Amino acid sequence: MINNMNRIVISGSIYLLLVIFMIFLLENVQSASPIIKINSGSSSNSGFFWHVTDPHLDSDYSQGSSVECGELICCRKSSPGNSTKAGRFGSYGPCDIPLETFMSALDFIKTYPLEASFVFYGGDNLAHDDWNYNQEYNLNYGLLVANALRSGLSGSKFQNRIIPSMGNHDMAPINLTPLDPSKNAWYLHPVGDAFQFSFNSFPDGPAALNSFKEMGYYTVLLEPGFRAVVINTQFCNPLNFWLLSTTDKDPGQQLAWLNTTLAAAQAANEKVVILGHIPPGISTSSSLEESTGEFNLGMSKIVERYSSILVGQFYGHTHNDHLKVFKDVATSTKPTGVAYVTPAVTQWEEHNPSFRLVQYNKQTFQLENIFTFVANLTKANLDGKITWSMEYDFINGYGLTDLSPASINGLIFNQLNPVKEQWDKFALRFGAGYPKNVCHFDKPCKLKKICAMGNVLYSGYDICIKSNGKQ
Ligand SMILES: [Zn+2]
Ligand SMILES: [Zn+2]
Repeated sequence: MINNMNRIVISGSIYLLLVIFMIFLLENVQSASPIIKINSGSSSNSGFFWHVTDPHLDSDYSQGSSVECGELICCRKSSPGNSTKAGRFGSYGPCDIPLETFMSALDFIKTYPLEASFVFYGGDNLAHDDWNYNQEYNLNYGLLVANALRSGLSGSKFQNRIIPSMGNHDMAPINLTPLDPSKNAWYLHPVGDAFQFSFNSFPDGPAALNSFKEMGYYTVLLEPGFRAVVINTQFCNPLNFWLLSTTDKDPGQQLAWLNTTLAAAQAANEKVVILGHIPPGISTSSSLEESTGEFNLGMSKIVERYSSILVGQFYGHTHNDHLKVFKDVATSTKPTGVAYVTPAVTQWEEHNPSFRLVQYNKQTFQLENIFTFVANLTKANLDGKITWSMEYDFINGYGLTDLSPASINGLIFNQLNPVKEQWDKFALRFGAGYPKNVCHFDKPCKLKKICAMGNVLYSGYDICIKSNGKQ
């Protein structure tokens, strides 16, 4: 029988071993020489940030193990069967990724030849063995990822600027986040402390760290005139059953806080980017609300009210590459804002590992372009090294002139919906370039995706579905 003290010592030893292993990986990781063509004609006027989300690291990932093992998660030493052997960097199937693949992505970002101002880390630290989740298990992964980000980006210009958010998989049990802040201290306090080096690099960092540790949401001033607001999407996750314990329409008072924060930003003449884990709106595949209806409505009102200062929103969670366009609440016809959903670093389930670079104008802080990077795991496993390459950028990849809400709405309804060639590009990019499970132009899955991307409110989605995507 293991007493508590022994358990802490054992858990600490495992953690130390993981950190040593991580340092070993850092010294041995290989990356491609990264070259991209930046869209802007005046790129000296551009700022950049990276968005990395959903690594779902699996410390039990084992090269040579069974990929189609018949269980919910495979590619582990314990996986039964003798099917396709798992590759070194990950394998397409019900598998997550080893730490080495995540470190490779961070090394690519660190050595990329342009000056980014920060990295947004979107959450979901650990693998999909949801039944194993407990506070100790999940916290070890939280600290592992925090240290991986810190050491993996060490030496880069933005090494002190990693902006974290919490994912639904970071909670134990999965999705469950009590509304009483003290009950989440087991995760938010130590993980917040692990990112203290980053919070300290912002002028309002100490207050932001306190807010993260208490509520999971916070705001930091990125540079004069440009602010990041990180929301805790567990307060709008329909699978967080703690939300059933309250009649409060604004759990965690997050929307009230967001309103106050944006009002202050507007008064200070700042532009704002909103960052989070679960995207607002409706699922692109199931027609179910991805975030609660009350949140979708509250958020739609806020986005409409502050559309002049909001430059964009970034989320992860679905592991796919897609969009969400906010519309005015009264008519669901006028685009007011855009949420970009960045595909995951894990391949779960059957897409290429990926992450993003966002380009913005340094004077206006408006978004200029978004670049998606991917790796082909089959090639990586054959080559013995991961080659990250740019899959596409929004402006050139879709033939856009800008990333305004009207342009993105036009992309969805005037290009992706009626033009097969444009849809085919999107459908492949949805899975980060992996050509399996592609939703074809003539299939019913297309209309669901079009309407879920073109609306955040269910009322607008319903009209869209009934009118066959005419909007
Ligand atoms: Zn995830
Ligand atoms: Zn998630």
